[in-house]
Amino acid sequence: MRLSPLQQAYSRYVQHTIKCDTCRNVDHGNCATSEELWRVYQAVGAAAYRQLAEDA
Ligand SMILES: [Zn+2]
Repeated sequence: MRLSPLQQAYSRYVQHTIKCDTCRNVDHGNCATSEELWRVYQAVGAAAYRQLAEDA
């Protein structure tokens, strides 16, 4: 099964948080990489939503 761009972006975010020491340790505070991956996911989601709106 092929993942959609949105699923791929979310998967990258999740995979990072699983492997990243900063993300796994709550006391470490914010992780810049995690925030960047989350922003990408949000951007892809917004683009996908616009695409749906245009098709409708
Ligand atoms: Zn991280």
